[in-house]
Amino acid sequence: MKKVRNPVKSHFLLISTALLLVTGCSSAAAPPQSEAPTQSDAPASTEKNEPGQKSQPSNSTETAPKPTEGQAPVKTPPKSSAEPQKPAASTIPEEQKPSGKPSDSVQIPDLDLEVVAEPQSVTVLVNKQRQLPDNYQPTDLVFPNVPYLLPAKSEKRQMRKEAAEALEKLFAAAKADGVALAGVSAYRPHAYQKALFNRYVQQDGLEKARTYSAVPGTSEHETGLAIDVSGADGKCAATSCFAGTKEAKWLADHAHEYGFIIRYPEGKDAITGYIYEPWHLRYVGNEVAQAIEEKQTTMEEYFGIAPVSSEQ
Ligand SMILES: [Zn+2]
Repeated sequence: MKKVRNPVKSHFLLISTALLLVTGCSSAAAPPQSEAPTQSDAPASTEKNEPGQKSQPSNSTETAPKPTEGQAPVKTPPKSSAEPQKPAASTIPEEQKPSGKPSDSVQIPDLDLEVVAEPQSVTVLVNKQRQLPDNYQPTDLVFPNVPYLLPAKSEKRQMRKEAAEALEKLFAAAKADGVALAGVSAYRPHAYQKALFNRYVQQDGLEKARTYSAVPGTSEHETGLAIDVSGADGKCAATSCFAGTKEAKWLADHAHEYGFIIRYPEGKDAITGYIYEPWHLRYVGNEVAQAIEEKQTTMEEYFGIAPVSSEQ
């Protein structure tokens, strides 16, 4: 489960897909720049947990604080616009698409990450310490009917059904407010993340690769519940200059009304493990999204999960 030993048999074609694969979103694959994520790449906790077994902190949403039921969406003041920080992806990475052909890839060592027990929960919490079961694949992926910067049939448009429906409402509401949004990248298949990460490990070694790319199973994009969003013009897509744009402001003000949160808020990188990503939306459902918005907190804090940094 948490083992990711299987050599990813992949051969990479150099394809400069530019924006399509912009994954400056640090839970994705940012360019190999050491300043991208602020999170250290120190090895994960050595505590070993059996897959599927509850361990501390609990994976289960059942033990999470119960949000108040039936709350109306609460409008809160906008979060302060971020000064553009260090670029998460000031240059667009030239992605190399795994082709599925065999190669002599390296093996990703067992990092002993905690494996989440309920990967199918819409409130599943994955981060640098908490990983989806190996080869987890959402079963209800659909194509949200919203504009994307991706080709029409790209599998990266997909999201889980509930999240997709919420996203359509969010986009429609933004449009009604004169804010034109576009999807940059949503679902990322586990095999893809694995192949991508593997390539980075081959290139830079494990320690360095972990500073800019998510270990397979730890990217929220693999849940089908996360999406990177930009303005319709695609400027600043998944990069730090998105902060402070009217699209970013709209999302900060309204995402929670549709069950989404800004998963990596400004100044919380010691808790989430990622620098501010105003473009990365995570669907958690209305109640949790509203509660997190009211508290101006993070998923980790809301669910009582240890900060990522404290475990390193
Ligand atoms: Zn993202």
